[in-house]
Amino acid sequence: MIDRFGRDINYLRVSVTDRCNFRCQYCMPHDGVKTMSHEDLLSFEEMFLVIHQFVSIGVKKVRLTGGEPLVRKGILGFIQSLSRINALEDIALTTNGALLKPMAADLKRCGLHRVNVSLDTLKPDRFTLLTRGGNLQDVLDGISEARSVGLKVKLNCVLNKDINIGEIADFVKLSRYWMLDVRFIELMPIGENVEYAIKNFVSTQEVLRQCPELVSIDAIDPSSPARYYQLPGAVGKVGLISPLSCNFCSDCNRLRLTPDGKLKPCLHNDMEIDLRSPLRNGENIMPLILEAIEVKPEKHLLDQHKTIVRQMSQIGG
Ligand code: SAM
Ligand code: SF4
Repeated sequence: MIDRFGRDINYLRVSVTDRCNFRCQYCMPHDGVKTMSHEDLLSFEEMFLVIHQFVSIGVKKVRLTGGEPLVRKGILGFIQSLSRINALEDIALTTNGALLKPMAADLKRCGLHRVNVSLDTLKPDRFTLLTRGGNLQDVLDGISEARSVGLKVKLNCVLNKDINIGEIADFVKLSRYWMLDVRFIELMPIGENVEYAIKNFVSTQEVLRQCPELVSIDAIDPSSPARYYQLPGAVGKVGLISPLSCNFCSDCNRLRLTPDGKLKPCLHNDMEIDLRSPLRNGENIMPLILEAIEVKPEKHLLDQHKTIVRQMSQIGG
């Protein structure tokens, strides 16, 4: 489905829960966020209906995210049901990795293709501090297990002055021997984290400054927000995702569905279209899906130094 700016909308990101077993400093306030009630959350059956409609108008890729998608009960059965939609070519998941070790084999068996694991520091103490309680070893074991069961793995590392500016080279080195992409992401001001994000922002240019041996390579997927680089002789790649320093809205091919059933045409815009009430009233939601594509803005609001109300964990990064 082509939008009014010529972008082919073929990707839906679905946040299956706002709950999380971590409370990362940049994503959630110290005391957590008030969680949505069970009735407010879309059921997996409702999410399936929405995804099915999107696939019928050309969506080929779905990414499940959260909150932490692996904490929602029934996630395996949901993935299995998605894997039976023939026209859906790619089912991916973004996770903090804490539950990946025990679940990786089942995720693969149920039809998951790819997993992005968020990992911002390789230092155990710092990891626990940043995630407010997480255990680094669980995540590292989860990454190994996911790779060994045949899931394609990418690492997502949010650059953060306070946490990992001294670890950039260590992350880049992982791509030398591991067949995976290490992607650095700029910290975005969202919800209540604005001050923290401004204080700790590091541009992805810092990666190139610290690792000048990285060589630019062609993007495999032109709609990916990442620009790709490689160390000479490395088996993996390094991606830079720069929502602030380098706007990529002109290639944005995605819409987002929040856990409470709102369609978000743009991550950095408070515009939302409610699907939950119409779904529960048995109404046809296709006109609302088409409307969301129609109103998808040309650019996000970060360019105008504006931010949005929802927390990242309530949208799905
Ligand atoms: N809990 C899962 C995880 O951490 O991977 C999935 C949800 S999390 C919101 C998705 C991604 O968003 C993570 O990679 C996280 O680091 C990133 N993220 C959260 N807040 C962010 C922010 N303010 N700026 C940039 N990335 C952010
Ligand atoms: Fe949870 Fe992911 Fe947010 Fe961390 S980034 S608090 S793991 S949702």
